[in-house]
Amino acid sequence: MRAEIIAVGTELLLGQIVNTNAQFLSQRLAELGIDVYFQTVVGDNEDRLKQAIAIAESRADLVVFTGGLGPTMDDLTRDALAAHLGVGIDMHEPSLAKIEAMFAGRSPSLIEINRRQAMLVEGASPLRNDAGLAVGSALTAGGTHYMLLPGPPREMKPMFLNDGSAWLKEKLGAAGALHSAMLRFCGIGESALEELYRDLIEAQSDPTLATYAKEGEVTLRVSTKAGTAEEALARLEPTLQEIRRRGERYLYAESDVALEAEVVRLLAEQRRTISCAESCTGGLIATMLTTIPGSADAFQGGVVSYSNPVKRDLLGVDQALLEGEGAPGAVSEETAKAMAEGVRSATDTDLALSVTGVAGPASSEGKPVGLVYIGIAERGKPVRAEKLQLQGDREGIRIRAAKRALYLAWL
Ligand code: ATP
Ligand code: MG
Repeated sequence: MRAEIIAVGTELLLGQIVNTNAQFLSQRLAELGIDVYFQTVVGDNEDRLKQAIAIAESRADLVVFTGGLGPTMDDLTRDALAAHLGVGIDMHEPSLAKIEAMFAGRSPSLIEINRRQAMLVEGASPLRNDAGLAVGSALTAGGTHYMLLPGPPREMKPMFLNDGSAWLKEKLGAAGALHSAMLRFCGIGESALEELYRDLIEAQSDPTLATYAKEGEVTLRVSTKAGTAEEALARLEPTLQEIRRRGERYLYAESDVALEAEVVRLLAEQRRTISCAESCTGGLIATMLTTIPGSADAFQGGVVSYSNPVKRDLLGVDQALLEGEGAPGAVSEETAKAMAEGVRSATDTDLALSVTGVAGPASSEGKPVGLVYIGIAERGKPVRAEKLQLQGDREGIRIRAAKRALYLAWL
């Protein structure tokens, strides 16, 4: 099914508001397996709205409107569609009753103006509005499906998610909806991940594969169209097995889970505790971990050791490592290891992470921006460190460093 979204509103064309409805609808339609080929924006003008409808009808199976369902003279979507289809406009009595109840005791002219919000293009089914007065609608005419949604996002979204998507699913029938597995990877970049699955991505027809990168993590969407979830799962499974086999080192979840949540879950399951010592990430790892409810079972605490004296006095990092002739410096493998071991023994945890690096924008100790060392200390094992050369701005480097440390804890 090919779809076009028509957002109606002069304020969109003037740049006074951003067309977030189109973004929301595009995402939701894609999830249903509907291909959005066009997004159109048109002002509150009946002639131009009719032109937009005629064009959309010629190239789409589904036209979704947002906006112009309100009570005022510039709310023209119903009238324009009815005129285009050559049909009338009906009063939807339950919606009218809701409006009359709302304005009971107020001026009759208020009810008169608001009656418009209860009107439907002839032959359309109503879509319930839990957050406002304008009734939405959906109809099929001349082989094209039309859906009319209000402009305000707080009315449009629930209407689409409830009655709107139910109506669409019925139209899509058994062959139709898109089912996706979301595989979450860390410790590997988007291009390396694409390389790992190049043959699968290139050969894709069903299932289809797509990667999305975000802040040190990559999501791989594997999708197929099927009538039921069970049918979809059976079709996805062989591909998923191959993906799991090749990406075992990086694949940390098969649902919408954050890496830090997975780390907390694993540690709690293993009854292990964790702490951290952070320099350039300034507490990000501690923040990420404590965002997760129930993290107290695993996370004991941390030190933001930004300066050398704090690294020395609170974590016991040897002054000779930090400063002086021939010292490795604060940003070094030796210091990362000493920080991790220092915080691990101070907190008596099973595991400790440390981060020390140059987040930029200026270099430090003559070391380049993006150079980061991560230390990892485990009870009863020799302390280790990993050297990274990260890309990005200050915020990007900090987030990637924190994610990488969490990845090492997960591994
Ligand atoms: P109303 O009853 O409020 O008049 P309506 O269905 O007629 O609703 P519009 O008049 O087109 O919708 O828009 C009302 C408000 O909804 C806009 O002022 C804006 O805040 C928001 N809105 C409309 N269209 C969009 C859009 N495409 N993206 C984001 N917000 C929108
Ligand atoms: Mg309006």
